[in-house]
Amino acid sequence: MLYGNLRPGRLKIARRDTRKFRVYSRKDIEHIPELQRLSHAERVAMRAVAAVLPFRVNSYVVEELIDWSNIPEDPIYQLTFPQPEMLSKADLARMIRLVNRKASSEEIKAAARAIQHSLNPHPAGQMELNVPLLDGVPVAGLQHKYRETVLLFPAAGQTCHSYCTYCFRWAQFVGDQDMKFANREVESWIRYLKINPEVRSVLLTGGDPMVMRSGVLRRYVEPLLDPALGHVLTIRIGTKSPAYWPQRFVTDEDADDILALFSEVRASGRHLALMAHYSHPRELETPIAQEAVRRILETGAVIRTQAPLVRRVNDSAEAWVRLWREQVRLGAVPYYMFVERDTGPKEYFKVPLARALQIFNGAYRRVSGLGRTVRGPSMSATPGKVLVDGVANVGAEQVFVLKFLQARDPAWVGRPFFASYDEDAAWLDELEPAFGRGEFFYEAAFRKFTARQSSVRRRDEKAAAPA
Ligand SMILES: *Cc1c(COP(=O)(O)O)cnc(C)c1O
Ligand code: SF4
Repeated sequence: MLYGNLRPGRLKIARRDTRKFRVYSRKDIEHIPELQRLSHAERVAMRAVAAVLPFRVNSYVVEELIDWSNIPEDPIYQLTFPQPEMLSKADLARMIRLVNRKASSEEIKAAARAIQHSLNPHPAGQMELNVPLLDGVPVAGLQHKYRETVLLFPAAGQTCHSYCTYCFRWAQFVGDQDMKFANREVESWIRYLKINPEVRSVLLTGGDPMVMRSGVLRRYVEPLLDPALGHVLTIRIGTKSPAYWPQRFVTDEDADDILALFSEVRASGRHLALMAHYSHPRELETPIAQEAVRRILETGAVIRTQAPLVRRVNDSAEAWVRLWREQVRLGAVPYYMFVERDTGPKEYFKVPLARALQIFNGAYRRVSGLGRTVRGPSMSATPGKVLVDGVANVGAEQVFVLKFLQARDPAWVGRPFFASYDEDAAWLDELEPAFGRGEFFYEAAFRKFTARQSSVRRRDEKAAAPA
């Protein structure tokens, strides 16, 4: 089963790897052959949870990444298949009752929606604070939080080849139009970028932009190559397709056109980075996964890798050592280890910060400098990306040393600050400032910023409202 020692470039792609994309969703749970080993009650519970959390898995993940002799512990199974403990006991019981009495899909949806709204679907103030205004109107599908980087959410890229059960983007997948960042207006993005020359990097994200056909992806990428956008030096694509559907770059009908597009971006003089989400070393073991990496790199694009640290999926130093070593061997650059966000089935997946740091260091100490490009554990919190840099004893107090890697105010970046050590804390808002301080250094400025944002927004929206 292990292909780890094969060299990319000499791999024969097996017949099965020319497979066509086939996806299973909630309505298919009774028909996935591998799930027949579960009891009827277990499948009912899975259908109940899948009504609330996103569920979508493709045949490659089912047939080649999951070890079915090891469920439910298998990490890729935990990553993709809904588990009963992901909901509270009460919520689970309620959903199972609805499924068992064959409630109408409207009734199931309404109950699911209520639970979803209780799971913090939009953490880190994504909606209110990050969508900028153009002529007083919010630019749909665009987020601008950190000065140098703009995120674009192509409307056609708001899905994925498989879904991760812990994903904080799940609010976009469950079909609530109000919660969706959609965009059909590339022109307004381009206009916004033209008048914001401080933007150096554009990151297409989702969902997964690589679900788009090459022709559709081109419509988003080609306008970014306009010479009038010379200040945009780098284009990034956030994607899990090299892990979940490597066929995208190898055997899909338009795989070669995708790679041609990557080469065109490079030919325009820009850096192109695939920000590839790899959760577990298993995702890099198949020949086709390695071939995908090789073909992407051949275009001149760089692959930078990132993933959240998730309990039951990759909460061991061993998993990360293998992941980072293999990435470096294949030519990919380890980039971020994230702390799982405070959303969705957070209790099921959370890893306390102290433990996250142990896992990070346990792995970091065992890779060469080429793997130490990775930074983490990092929390993408409302004020910025906060790195848990270490634990230290200062005087009589044990503290976490924290540092912004990215911040709403660039002046906050790189300045160490301190929180009282807390073995159980799992997110920034569970930390207390050390040394008896009332608050962290950035908090007063951050309050001012959020107050200003909402008053600007109210004024501009009023001004832009039709008479
Ligand atoms: C992580 C992130 C970015 C990119 O940050 P880098 O440190 O440049 O990778 C941009 N915008 C948002 C909102 C982010 O969370
Ligand atoms: S691939 Fe990314 S966006 Fe899609 S479900 Fe997984 S974490 Fe979420």
